[in-house]
Amino acid sequence: MKNCICGRPLTYEDCCGVYHSGKRVAQTAEDLMRSRYSAFVLADVDYIMRTYATETRPNSERNEIKEWAASVMWLGLQIISTKDGTIGDSEGRVKFKALYSEAGKIHEMIEDSFFRFEKGQWFYVNGR
Ligand SMILES: [Zn+2]
Repeated sequence: MKNCICGRPLTYEDCCGVYHSGKRVAQTAEDLMRSRYSAFVLADVDYIMRTYATETRPNSERNEIKEWAASVMWLGLQIISTKDGTIGDSEGRVKFKALYSEAGKIHEMIEDSFFRFEKGQWFYVNGR
């Protein structure tokens, strides 16, 4: 069996795929983080945009995000740590490392992301 794009030992259809298709919403901040990484790999900009908090959603950069996501080669996601962000929480943090290759060079993206639970689902607010 092939792991999901996010690295979990599940098929894509049973993992991030259910969120991308809109069948279900992510139940935890980590699930949302993983599904957003997978959406970058698939250059699914619709999913990336709809999982942003309204106040930080970069609507004007939509095309650039899609082009960039599609142009780099994604090499993997590693969750470093999580804080809150589970069922019953209103906020959560996920620290992750993502590797990608751009123009023949390997880049490492390390971010401490902030998520908020609002109207029954998790949203990505920002990262540092
Ligand atoms: Zn997944």
